[in-house]
Amino acid sequence: KYFDIAKLLENVIEVLQHNNPHYQFIVDISSKGLVYGDEMRIEQVLINFITNAIKYSPGQHKIEIKSFIENNKLHVSVKDFGIGISEDQLSKVFDKFYRVDETSVHFQGLGIGLYISSEIINRHNGEIGVRSKSGEGAEFYFIIPVLEND
Ligand code: ATP
Ligand code: MG
Repeated sequence: KYFDIAKLLENVIEVLQHNNPHYQFIVDISSKGLVYGDEMRIEQVLINFITNAIKYSPGQHKIEIKSFIENNKLHVSVKDFGIGISEDQLSKVFDKFYRVDETSVHFQGLGIGLYISSEIINRHNGEIGVRSKSGEGAEFYFIIPVLEND
């Protein structure tokens, strides 16, 4: 099904901003129009990314959310300035039940959100990834193809 990606992003951000008033969301939604996919599942990925950004950036309350379409692909990224992830753990965060050892002591979670997100994005024939440096925050992104709808 086709859905309005800008509208979905705005709705998710509005709810999470309302529930987390101390966080400053810096939003740049340049992706206009319809995207083909499962709206509820893409919503789940967005919620996973943004709630992680909130959870793993205590005391650092800025989150940047960006989306754009390039070469018929939708790019969405969520960037925080929190604890970050060390290089040796980066590739593992999408594994089922994986949690970074040092942080799991301080933060509640099951280690399932990113695994589910990667399954969802794979089923959309997309790409999911993360850029991060320990102590400097993390930027999670996904890219999915935008199918023609005319
Ligand atoms: P839940 O299943 O409730 O989402 P979780 O947040 O621990 O639990 P994931 O969302 O799958 O699980 O994330 C896996 C791990 O990756 C986290 O435990 C954390 O160590 C690390 N991580 C995820 N997002 C971030 C982030 N924005 N900054 C730093 N570490 C992160
Ligand atoms: Mg999570």
